[in-house]
Amino acid sequence: MTPDRIGIMGAMDAEITEFLGHADLIESTEWRGFTFHTVRLEGREAVLVKSGIGKVFSALVSQHLIDAFAPEALIFTGVAGALNPAYEIGDVVISRDCIQHDVDGRALGFARGNLLYTDLKIFAADPDLARIALSADAVGHNIRSGRILTGDQFMTRDQINHHRYLVDELHGDAVEMEGGAMAQVCAVNGIPFVVVRTISDRADGDAVEDFNRFLPEVARNSFAIVRHILSRLPRSA
Ligand code: SAH
Repeated sequence: MTPDRIGIMGAMDAEITEFLGHADLIESTEWRGFTFHTVRLEGREAVLVKSGIGKVFSALVSQHLIDAFAPEALIFTGVAGALNPAYEIGDVVISRDCIQHDVDGRALGFARGNLLYTDLKIFAADPDLARIALSADAVGHNIRSGRILTGDQFMTRDQINHHRYLVDELHGDAVEMEGGAMAQVCAVNGIPFVVVRTISDRADGDAVEDFNRFLPEVARNSFAIVRHILSRLPRSA
């Protein structure tokens, strides 16, 4: 794998802004109300885009990124809720794989998370991208390899307690709303991916974090890790 152009997606403005502040902008293009920024960073081209929240936004922006910019890999960065009790707020989870936890065809005989009438359920991240991401420094926090669950619900602590299958059956470490959809699009297109998420909330935690206060730190974390990935990836000849 020799990715010279990488697609970077986020659900939030803060992260895209952080990237734009540290990279040389080549051009910005609009499509259906989404802005795709092509920048130069660590000697490579990266295309940055804010997808918005949820699986459909994530999927359609992923597909357009692939069609219009031909990236050799996609990275999703953002925040996630912890399912694994060992995860602390501020820790970074690198996807080992993703499952869409809201896919439920059990009434038709499919396992939870299994896309109906397919054998697709667990979408594995690219091992090289994941390994490089895991070698980054999260400055005072842990970097962990984990399973990321994706669905169109914001999971509060209470909901997580009422949806034990997230942990007991699907063995999720973190929960968010976009990664698994990007993963499916990448699988269909044969594009390597990794999801990089900073833990912003904990299923069992007492810590009440002010999300807005925390956001700049998340954005800096994500930026540093994506920059690390870009600087370490093998280059094409
Ligand atoms: N708290 C934010 C809104 C976050 S909405 C605010 O105040 O503006 C949810 C976004 O964060 C999604 O992009 C999702 O991927 C991620 N996320 C973080 N924690 C989550 C959780 N517990 N459940 C689902 N998504 C979560």
